[in-house]
Amino acid sequence: MKKICLIATGGTIVSKDGGSGLEPDLTPQELLSYVPELKEVAEISVRELFRLDSTNINPGHWIKMAGCIREEYENFDGFVVIHGTDTMAYTAAALSYLVQDSEKPIILTGSQKSVYNRDTDARRNLTDAFCYAADPRSHGVYIVFDGTAILGTHARKTRTHSYNAFSSINCPAAAVMQEGRIIRYFEPELSGKVKFYGQMNPRVLRVRPYPGISKEILTRTMDCYDGLVIECFGTSGIPAYGGFDTAVSEWARAGKAIVATTQVPHEGSDMSVYRVGKDLMGLGLMEAFDMTPEAVLAKLMWALGNAGNREELKRLFAGKVWMDTFF
Ligand code: ASP
Repeated sequence: MKKICLIATGGTIVSKDGGSGLEPDLTPQELLSYVPELKEVAEISVRELFRLDSTNINPGHWIKMAGCIREEYENFDGFVVIHGTDTMAYTAAALSYLVQDSEKPIILTGSQKSVYNRDTDARRNLTDAFCYAADPRSHGVYIVFDGTAILGTHARKTRTHSYNAFSSINCPAAAVMQEGRIIRYFEPELSGKVKFYGQMNPRVLRVRPYPGISKEILTRTMDCYDGLVIECFGTSGIPAYGGFDTAVSEWARAGKAIVATTQVPHEGSDMSVYRVGKDLMGLGLMEAFDMTPEAVLAKLMWALGNAGNREELKRLFAGKVWMDTFF
């Protein structure tokens, strides 16, 4: 039987309402007691790292999760991380950069309803996550949720209430699950031995232009950040009025790492189409193409945290990791 480490971080799945609203409360052992059939799927050990609503998970927590996986890597065949759904896609992306080419599966899951609810999705999600983690063909980082396995670099929370809370963006789902059976559509190739990273630089600002935006969001904040993710309109546009585009150029001249992506949910950016995009690329910006905003943010933090110089930063950001650019 496979040995799987359950890494608990909190979320609705372990939450109870003590009178002031839902908050994480159950221990991982209590959680497992609701799903006794898991004993037939894997030999499970538990590491509880946090008991947080995932609203409060930040890059420091990502590093602790990756550190725990590194410490326990030789002791287990795979990992299941339970996590709140609200920021699970960010954590899945971050773990895809912090633990690369993992031959052992790292599966994130959680639920929309707490495990003790009669109509909860927690039991199914946990069973699917453990079945996926225990399968010898599984590698790398995934979210397994509502019967679907999504690459850690392509997941996005797209529904606040429904059980199918996550979508796979700009990439098909990798597999579906039916009563513990895995129907695989594809599995990315590993490109070498597992690599662990322990650094992230969280000094990244994400700006989403809207009609009427003013330049101050950029001019007043530049000193606080090393990187900027700018979510352009459509394939590549940012406003040229009110000095907004000039403010972006000032960030570029100051040597900040800037990534251009799109605020459109599907199909990615293409800076080569319009003059506004070509002008931006002339500033030496990096482009996100079909990466999700969650993956762009995590990758820029990871690249800034691990690159020694500007060239290395560009090389790290441009390198394909866990199929983060799919097209
Ligand atoms: N607010 C919760 C969290 O992200 C939502 C959930 O787990 O579904 O921790």
